[in-house]
Order: sequence, then structure tokens, then C-alpha cells
Amino acid sequence: MSLQLFSGAEVETLSTETGDAVLAEHGRIRAVGERRALLAGIGAREVEEIDLEGAVLMPGFVDGHAHMELSCITQEQHLQLHAPPMTSVVQILAAIAERRRSQPTGWIVVRSSFALGQRVAEGRLPRQEELDRVSPGEPLVVLAGLHVAVLNTPAMQALALDDESQHGRGMTVHRHPDGTPNGVFTEVWDRLPVADESAVVAAIRRRARGLFSAHGTTSLSTIPTSTDDVRALQALHGAGELPFRVRFYPHVPRVGPIESLLSLGATSGFGDDRLRFGGVKIFVDGEGGDGIGVVYDDLKWERRELDELVRLATEARVQLFMHAVTETGIRAAMAAVRAQSPAALAQLPAPHRIEHSGDYVPIPLIGELAASGVGVVTTPHFVSSEVVAADFQPLRGLVDAGVAPIGATDTTGTVPQGASPLYNIASMVNRVDASGAPSPHRLTVHEAVRVFTTWSAAGQGEGAEKGALRPGMLADFAVLAENPFRVESDRIADIAVLHSYVGGRVVQRP
Ligand SMILES: [Zn+2]
Repeated sequence: MSLQLFSGAEVETLSTETGDAVLAEHGRIRAVGERRALLAGIGAREVEEIDLEGAVLMPGFVDGHAHMELSCITQEQHLQLHAPPMTSVVQILAAIAERRRSQPTGWIVVRSSFALGQRVAEGRLPRQEELDRVSPGEPLVVLAGLHVAVLNTPAMQALALDDESQHGRGMTVHRHPDGTPNGVFTEVWDRLPVADESAVVAAIRRRARGLFSAHGTTSLSTIPTSTDDVRALQALHGAGELPFRVRFYPHVPRVGPIESLLSLGATSGFGDDRLRFGGVKIFVDGEGGDGIGVVYDDLKWERRELDELVRLATEARVQLFMHAVTETGIRAAMAAVRAQSPAALAQLPAPHRIEHSGDYVPIPLIGELAASGVGVVTTPHFVSSEVVAADFQPLRGLVDAGVAPIGATDTTGTVPQGASPLYNIASMVNRVDASGAPSPHRLTVHEAVRVFTTWSAAGQGEGAEKGALRPGMLADFAVLAENPFRVESDRIADIAVLHSYVGGRVVQRP
């Protein structure tokens, strides 16, 4: 049946439309209004009515940047030892030893928390010698967040990192007093072995609904890190098995040199409303420090290389996601965009973006960032999942300067609850400073909801189709048990998501 009436709901449209019902046709919204008026408007046509029994109907959440394939693979294959619940290196080593007994050969990839060394009793990361003891002869890596790694000796050899010539620009190599690498590295995550297409397909099939749809996410931008990741997306799309809309931004140079991607001729938006090529993800810098507490610039490109990269993408009409977490990195990315011709920039389907600039922008740079026209991206849950400074993530100042921050859960599988937009919204609304007082960087609930709906949709060039409820937009909904605009703000993170609908069709729970 092509006509659907979603009724009996508290409808939050995030637009000027109002009503208690939404009429959809062929997966798009035809009208928003009062049930009786909508029914009268369709006359004798048959309609499928979905009674939402008093629940809250709002636009499905748009996750502006997540690592969907990696998150699913993490749940399937990686050993998750976050702190908490882990409290010590000793405990982590015991869990690895147990895994090694059931998996005698091959890589063990351990995913653990940001700033792990500050979260365990020993006050330090595990040591290579300790990892060698629990996994002798077979490769093992402990990732604290994605950017900091401790490798055992076989893993270091497998990645050729015992060879100094293989150390990349922007990579920090920690060393023993005699100068040899001690196993702690930053920026080696993109050298780890990748899962093949069938494993990625299986992982997404089993995990994506639980990770994303269950939180009301109906659309996300993902960062494939391999050719097989991209093929997996296409295979699932072909089988009608993508549970939400996907826009993908392959990581360059991991998936290939930028020239090869650009010469294909696909511009941002190529595809259909279920699966689109969004653009390209590059890293301007990396961890933004040595991984164990020292902050420094770890830029991966010379200034002219970055300018050239941005020029190539701009001419190809391909949107760039530029990761930058240092002031130098954010400035370099802004300068590279400024170096382009305004006419070429105007041809982009959506402005280039600086991922994490909403988190790491120094307060004095807010005005310049706001005026630059680049997309400003934030991952709100970093406030609770990382160890952050008081002036971190100055969202209030950004919004007041006219920026519409783009919400990204940035889920890689590191922070289990981080994939929930409501958890991130709550984090923006309820932030406290070190003394426990309300943070000056807080947003209102309305602003915070926009970060994961209208603003994140606009940040990927899809503001006309997603993020609000009005005629012509996609019938993508999150159905919530309670209204985030009405509950006490400390309850927002706990609001139950009852269903998500994509194109008017309910996404079945896993
Ligand atoms: Zn990311």
C-alpha cells in the first residue's frame, strides 16, 4: 500500500509543520497535520494506518560521521576490554590470556578506552613485555581509542614497525632508553589487517541494527577503510539489507590515492537515497599528541600537499571530511579551503568539513572558523569518554557565532554507548564543568537535537531530504517513548527508542 498514516503520536517536526499525524506516500512525507484533516484529504484512497499509541514521532537521527563497518567488525571480532569495567592492566592481561587459549593463532585486536593509562590502577598502558607474555609468537595489539596502540613483538614485526624506515609522518614511536621502539605507537590503526568483504557483510547484518537503528539512527555517513568495506556496502544495498541510509566517505590514502578515486568521475551524492558516495575522508593530523598525555602537532601533510589535495577534491566536486584535532591542523585545513577558488567551492554539493573542529577549536579561533564556511563537526560524547580540558568543545560559542554544528557519534566501537544520538544530545545539554556546575558550553535541547537532525543532514548536503518532517522529505522517523523536549534533561539519555522507520518501513529489531 503506498499511502501510510502515522497517527496517535506526539509529533515533533523540527519544522513549521504541526499536527498529530504524518501522511507518507512511497516512502516520502506527503503531509503533516491533524489525523482527521489528513484522512479527509485523501478521500476514498486506501491507507495503511500506523497507530503510535501516544509515542513521540520525530525525524530519524542523522549520524554525521561514524565508522559503521569497523564498529560492526569490532563487535564481531575484537576483544572489548574497556575501562571501566576493567580497572587494571593485570585484569586486561588476564582477559587477553584467556582469549589466547581459545584462539591460539592469528591477530588479537583489543579495543579499549581513550586515555587507558589514566583509567587503570597501574596508571600506565600495558607494556610490550606483558603483551608478549600473554601472546607469545602471535600478534596482539591493544588500542586505547583508535589512535594509540601497544603492539607485542610479533605484531610490531608483522606491521614492519621494527623497521625505522616504515614509520610514517605524524606517527609517534615511543622508545626504550636504548632507542629501540617499546611497542607504544600512535597512528598505526590504518596498518592493521582488514576484514574481508564476507566478514564485513556478516558483521553489518548482525550488528548494525543493534548499534545504530536501535538508537533511532536512520541515516549515517560512514568511513570505509578498505575496498572490501565499500564492496560490503554495495552487496548489502543490492540485497536490500542496509537497515538505514548510508553515505560513504572512503579513507584516503588507505582505500586508494585520491587521484584514483577522483578520476572515477563520481561526484558527491552519486548513488541513490539508500547508498550514496559522499566524498573522501582525509586525516590532516592524527592523535594530536604522543598518546600518553603530551599534546603536539602531528600533521600528516605539508601545507602545499594539503592545498593540492583540497584543490583536486574541489575540482572533482567531492566533499572532504578533514580530520583535525590540533589548532595547527584546524588552521591548515581552513587555509587549504581558503586557497581554493570561490567558484569551484560553490559547486560542491556540501561544503568541505573539518571533523572534530567543534571539539578542538581554541576559543579565540571560533570567529575565524565560523566565517570560513567549512562544516564544523562535533562528537559530544567525547566530553564524558575522553579526558578533556575546560575549554574543550565550546558549542555554545560556536552556535552563538552562527555555526550549525554537525553531530557525529564517531563510533568506531571504542565507546559502547557513544553510538546513541540521545546519549550525545544529553551530553551537550547536561555538561558540567570540573566543579559540577553547569558548563558555559551547554546547548539547549532544541539546539542539541538539531545537531543530530537538521544540522547533521545539512552538513552532508541532505538538508532538503532529512532531519525534519515536512512534505517532500523522506519518511524516516525515530519513535520515542518520551519527548526529549519535555522530560527532565537528565533523563534524555535514557529515553527508550521504540522503533525506527526508514522510508516509512519499520526497521526490525535484531
Ligand atoms: Zn572518525
